[in-house]
Amino acid sequence: YLQEINRTAHLPARTMDGHLVKVEANIELLEEVVGAKDFGAEGIGLYRTEFFFMNRADLPDEDTLFREYRDLSELMAPQWVTMRTLDLGAEKLATWYPRLDEPNPALGLRSIRLCLHYREIFKTQLRAILRASAVCRNTRLMFPMVSGLGELIEAKRMLQEVREELQRERIPFDERMPVGVMIEVPSAVAVADMLAPEVDFFSIGTNDLIQYSLGIDRANEHVAYLYEPLHPAVLRFIKHTVDVGRKAGIEVALCGEMAGEPLYVPILLGLKVNTFSMNPQSVPRVKNLICRSYMKECTRFVNKVLRMGTADEINRVLEKVVTRYF
Ligand code: PEP
Ligand code: MG
Repeated sequence: YLQEINRTAHLPARTMDGHLVKVEANIELLEEVVGAKDFGAEGIGLYRTEFFFMNRADLPDEDTLFREYRDLSELMAPQWVTMRTLDLGAEKLATWYPRLDEPNPALGLRSIRLCLHYREIFKTQLRAILRASAVCRNTRLMFPMVSGLGELIEAKRMLQEVREELQRERIPFDERMPVGVMIEVPSAVAVADMLAPEVDFFSIGTNDLIQYSLGIDRANEHVAYLYEPLHPAVLRFIKHTVDVGRKAGIEVALCGEMAGEPLYVPILLGLKVNTFSMNPQSVPRVKNLICRSYMKECTRFVNKVLRMGTADEINRVLEKVVTRYF
């Protein structure tokens, strides 16, 4: 079985009936890129840029960021690198950043909200990303935790400002760099049809989408038993996002932990997720499972699953389906 997994790791992830999906890796640090490629990742679907800001005593300057992003895109070229802008706050704290006194940090001043608040930090990062985009033209940009159209427009407006600044300074960047938005807050799912025309791709962040849609703190062990990726509400949210994205003709990726869990492959395939992005170690197994699946079967299976009322029930039928593969 291990041999079989290694055989498919560096092949395209195509189902038995010819449906092609992309399998990419999530990374937190530059050093993980080589490993991700070895595991067979076809790009970086999520680079969590905040970790570079967290593992140091001071705030990095533009040139330091530029060098990091340039090295990453060079290592990965010609495949895509999806740079997610700073997702700081809540559980992701930096030493140089004052700890805020917030009763509910997960609902607090974090991520894109923090960036739109501390604009200089955000602008510095956007400049560095844009500059790096010129080198191999394989950079994509993605905004996290967007809760609605207003925030997306504002973030895009700042990006445009930075573009114009660079143009004035005659600093090159990729004018066609794709821009995407994470769908990880339930309100973003509800207005996905309004977000779609503004972006080149969606990337569903199920880690937070589960937390916010079920009202379950993803880091709280007391309620961990209620953190259910297969909750019918979560599946409906994923389905709605994919359907809206498909209708608008944009790519829909999924970059939460769900994408790397082999058990969920038939469901995510059946829901027509275009791109799976996961921790690098999961790539070979997930790719192998995709290569052994039939899209037709997954579609039929999902139609059945979407009528089920509890995660337990869905889990039981899923285990039956997936054990056939192992
Ligand atoms: C997510 O929320 O699913 C996600 C991919 O982002 P993070 O885990 O970094 O919050
Ligand atoms: Mg998230």
